[in-house]
Amino acid sequence: MKPVRGLSVLTKVHAEPEQEHVEMIKRGLPQPAKKKRIIVLGAGMAGLVSASLLKEAGHSVILLEGNSRVGGRVHTLRKPFRNGDHFEGGAMRIPSHHQLTMTYVQKFHLPVIPFVNATDNDLIYMNGKLVRRFMYEDNPDLLAFPVDEKERGLTAVNLLRQAVAEFAEQYVAGTKNERGRLLARFARFTKDGFLRENPLGESLSDIATYKINTMLGIGGFHHLSFTDILLNITSTIFGDNVDFFQIKGGNDQLPKAFLPYINDHLHVNRTVMRIVQDNTGVQVTAEDERKEQHVYFGDVVVCTLPFSVLRLVDIWPHDSLSFAKQRAIRELVYVQATKVGIEFKRKFWEDDALYGGSLITDLPLQFMYYPSHNINVPGPGILKACYAWGENANLWDAMEEEERVDRALSYVAHIHGEKVKKLATGGVSVSWGSNPFSAGCFSMFKPYQHGELPSVIRQPEGRIHFAGEHTSRLHAWIEGAIESGVRVAEEVNKRII
Ligand SMILES: Cc1cc2nc3c(=O)[nH]c(=O)nc-3n(C[C@H](O)[C@H](O)[C@H](O)COP(=O)(O)OP(=O)(O)OC[C@H]3O[C@@H](n4cnc5c(N)ncnc54)[C@H](O)[C@@H]3O)c2cc1C
Repeated sequence: MKPVRGLSVLTKVHAEPEQEHVEMIKRGLPQPAKKKRIIVLGAGMAGLVSASLLKEAGHSVILLEGNSRVGGRVHTLRKPFRNGDHFEGGAMRIPSHHQLTMTYVQKFHLPVIPFVNATDNDLIYMNGKLVRRFMYEDNPDLLAFPVDEKERGLTAVNLLRQAVAEFAEQYVAGTKNERGRLLARFARFTKDGFLRENPLGESLSDIATYKINTMLGIGGFHHLSFTDILLNITSTIFGDNVDFFQIKGGNDQLPKAFLPYINDHLHVNRTVMRIVQDNTGVQVTAEDERKEQHVYFGDVVVCTLPFSVLRLVDIWPHDSLSFAKQRAIRELVYVQATKVGIEFKRKFWEDDALYGGSLITDLPLQFMYYPSHNINVPGPGILKACYAWGENANLWDAMEEEERVDRALSYVAHIHGEKVKKLATGGVSVSWGSNPFSAGCFSMFKPYQHGELPSVIRQPEGRIHFAGEHTSRLHAWIEGAIESGVRVAEEVNKRII
């Protein structure tokens, strides 16, 4: 059998940015030949990056945001909690090898602390058994998954590593073009399809595939692309030697750090309804919270709206968008996610030596994350009591807010004992599937799309340029949004109108 390299090599190679993008964040865009009037749609990370770079290069910029806040899917909640603590409703961990994100963190002098993603003491509750991670790693058969004889003695991560070893070797060794060809070649596989009918190695049994799905929390991604899930989810979150950070005091400080550069050009509570373009320019109509319409004129639009909600925007004339782009907007899938945060009077989990890290379970809550800030500080703490993904989030989305918090609390009590119920002082949930500004958590390709869709999604259409996590190589990460924001700023800066 081939030596199996860590998944972390794969994620690091995949995430390597163009060095010129790092330089642009540090030093800005080159001076343009001609200044343009640019309307940027959406003040999430992609919109903030492109708007600030373009403004700094001397263009006239208007940034329109439908919500009352900036940051989009980077969303830190401080209410209804007491004691000034916070809960990350959206992005919570920043891999240290995400260079573009770290460059902004350094540029804005934001303090970071470790995000403890996993520890040997992590809890695993599967098939009715509660164990620590180190116990399961010593004996991967402890959780009683009835896998085939040849699959015994292997953890879910090691089963996955073996199954993808040849693909990972080829990807890591490949040039940019070879990687593109590799993605196109294996784009037709769903995650389960690749594992069960492995075109590059030994196929796994049904139960081993189920073990990977449940242990790695990707069971709710059945119909989605093997390559996208491997490169953007599992290799990062379950890669050995991947360090994660969070911004001290809340990740929303990253989007907020752009405000001094862009505040005079930002219009919040402006939901974009219509874009009209012709040879002379582009006109954007947005509605405020009183449903009054505002019209903005420009030379170029940068659209960072997730395709899930761009479908609601009327783009005119109809044929100013290519057939391929219209189809991509309609067909790109957004994975759902729902989180529940519960505040407790004291950090009872620290009594069990849980300092950061997680619980992974086949219970509906899927993941629980123990806070890795304020460790060993006496007093209250907020538990990410539920983090359900993909189809697993549907169940939580079907509940009212109060029921989500109650249910999550009863599962916390199932693991940690009834006594913890008395310590709970309040909770909140964030359902990204019900969020009108993204209608989902992140984009993920279906089979075949990884080969065909990336260039279509990125391609400018007339005067409209596209950015956002969904237009990048790094679906599901802030890094992808930033990469796209820099790429589109460069594109628009160079554009001759
Ligand atoms: C639950 C969850 C967990 C995540 N975890 C992580 C993580 O741990 N680490 C990580 O790096 N990334 C994580 N991500 C992904 C990361 O948050 C996103 O990839 C990134 O923030 C997307 O930025 P964006 O600018 O592309 O899109 P968005 O942030 O969605 O920005 C789009 C903006 O457009 C606005 N908008 C939408 N419609 C309209 C309209 N019609 N008119 C005007 N404005 C509109 C929205 O309000 C929003 O501000 C997570 C995301 C979620 C949801």
